[in-house]
Amino acid sequence: MSVPSPWRADFPIFSAHPELHYLDAAATAQRPSEVIEAIGAFQSGGNANVHRGIYRLAEDATSAYEAARDTVRAFLNAVSLQEIVFLPGATAGMNFLADTWGRQNLNSGDEIVISEMEHHAVIVPWTELARGLGVKIQVAPLTADGQLDMDAYRALLSPKTKLVLVTAMSNVLGTAPDLAQVGAAAHEAGALFFTDAAQAAAHARLDVQALPVDALVFSSHKVYGDFGSGALWMRPEQLAALPPYQRGGSMIRSVSWEAVEYLDAPHRFEAGTANVVAAIGFAAGLRYLERAWANGAQAHETRLLEDLLERLGAEEGVRVFGPPSTAARGPIVSFTLERVHPHDLAQVLDEHGVAVRAGHHCTQPLHRHLGIPATARASIGVWNDSSDIDALIEGIRDARERFVR
Ligand code: PLP
Repeated sequence: MSVPSPWRADFPIFSAHPELHYLDAAATAQRPSEVIEAIGAFQSGGNANVHRGIYRLAEDATSAYEAARDTVRAFLNAVSLQEIVFLPGATAGMNFLADTWGRQNLNSGDEIVISEMEHHAVIVPWTELARGLGVKIQVAPLTADGQLDMDAYRALLSPKTKLVLVTAMSNVLGTAPDLAQVGAAAHEAGALFFTDAAQAAAHARLDVQALPVDALVFSSHKVYGDFGSGALWMRPEQLAALPPYQRGGSMIRSVSWEAVEYLDAPHRFEAGTANVVAAIGFAAGLRYLERAWANGAQAHETRLLEDLLERLGAEEGVRVFGPPSTAARGPIVSFTLERVHPHDLAQVLDEHGVAVRAGHHCTQPLHRHLGIPATARASIGVWNDSSDIDALIEGIRDARERFVR
């Protein structure tokens, strides 16, 4: 099967590196020309600080920044701009939630249910907070094929559960849990449900009006935008009740020596100078992604995923992790090659021009559960085509030749 990509030419990185087979979208997406141009256009023709100046250039910059917020709002189908907070990324979003909602709402004896496949960006802020507060962490286990074990998950829920944290897509297994079921069960137990959409946002529609989710975070650089931006979405009634995260300029209504009055959401949560350039790149990335989806990018990725799973599965000594069905997963595939360390494998693949990630992918508890220290991971973006998978398979065979003797 040969699957070409009509989007590949949009990415200048492949002109700079014609031999590159970039299979590391899950680490960061490559940037299409229009995102690079949108950033450049702001830098060269629109640069000014936002929410400050009353001259034209500054007002235009403010409008561009708020228009970027509206692009994020529309992408998530959120109702209002007040629900979207710009933060540096998904990690910052989870730290925000732990430090604000967590500190305000959790008490000793409460419980948090957290899935076994979470990224350290979720595990670290919440487990550290829980330890400090005397909150119990309940780990929701996975089935043998890397899906959330829904029965075991439901059995962990109780009146003590205040929060459920389940990723919208695992960055290792590709698993895409049924968020509707996860959220509904959390709500039935009286808990809130926050999800890490850092990976899912690049591959699946996340409609916050339709999903029973209370907060969601994701990063610009994984959805074709630039580094340095990301968004937190939270139900407005929850967000409005939160204390500020950081304090300083741009987030206050009035300041005196005696008292400080804060602005409403979202500005109350965006202290200091905003990363306007990153927000503009973020919005340009989302516009690009929306257009790619409208032109069939999701089906393209699924075709490549099917091919990837089938071909990896047929390779001698290769063990593939995560759900076998493409219906239950996104285009992120971790695997091992018998008797070859993933780092060695990644190095051989690099000699073939294939960029994959190798390591624990910031999921040490998951790798401990899998019983291995590391995996190699191939992940797909809209630019990928069959030649990338051909090169990956060739590289794996070469590594086997060299190491397994
Ligand atoms: N969550 C998941 C599932 C991720 O894959 C990542 C990044 O790799 C993050 C969170 C953290 O995102 P960022 O590093 O952009 O804050």
